[in-house]
Amino acid sequence: MNYKLFVFDLDETIWTVSEGLCSLVRPPFRLSTPDRLENDKGYWVELKPGVRQLFKFLRSKKRYISIASRNDSGPTMDLLDAFGLSEYLDFPQLGWRPKDESIQRIIKELSKRDKISIKPEEVFFLDDWPENVVPVKLWGATSLLFGQDVQSYEELMEMLK
Ligand SMILES: [Mg+2]
Repeated sequence: MNYKLFVFDLDETIWTVSEGLCSLVRPPFRLSTPDRLENDKGYWVELKPGVRQLFKFLRSKKRYISIASRNDSGPTMDLLDAFGLSEYLDFPQLGWRPKDESIQRIIKELSKRDKISIKPEEVFFLDDWPENVVPVKLWGATSLLFGQDVQSYEELMEMLK
């Protein structure tokens, strides 16, 4: 596995959401199962099976993990915190810019903090929208479409082992 950095989209990639955008699921929310958060309006976010195991695996291999998601930052970080996932993430990018720009920002921050360089071909990106996957692929990363190139996190773990 030659990737140094793994970047994931959120909605319909690492989790499923009831309302289209996870940032519409505002606190107070509660965990109805370890992988499902619900708020008092009945909106919910449910983590896809295998995401936690994948993050643990990548961390054990000392790989960087981050997020590039079109969502409002505050509410989305609340969800990542509530799932216990934010501790895995370096410089998550939540906003409305193109995903290739978000990834380049992550790399810039990592290189500043850790004095490392990460080339496009050392980046793995996963998203459920072709419009997001294509520019990242053109930039030079491995950029896969969730639901087509990768069907599940179990399958992705097998690909990476
Ligand atoms: Mg998505």
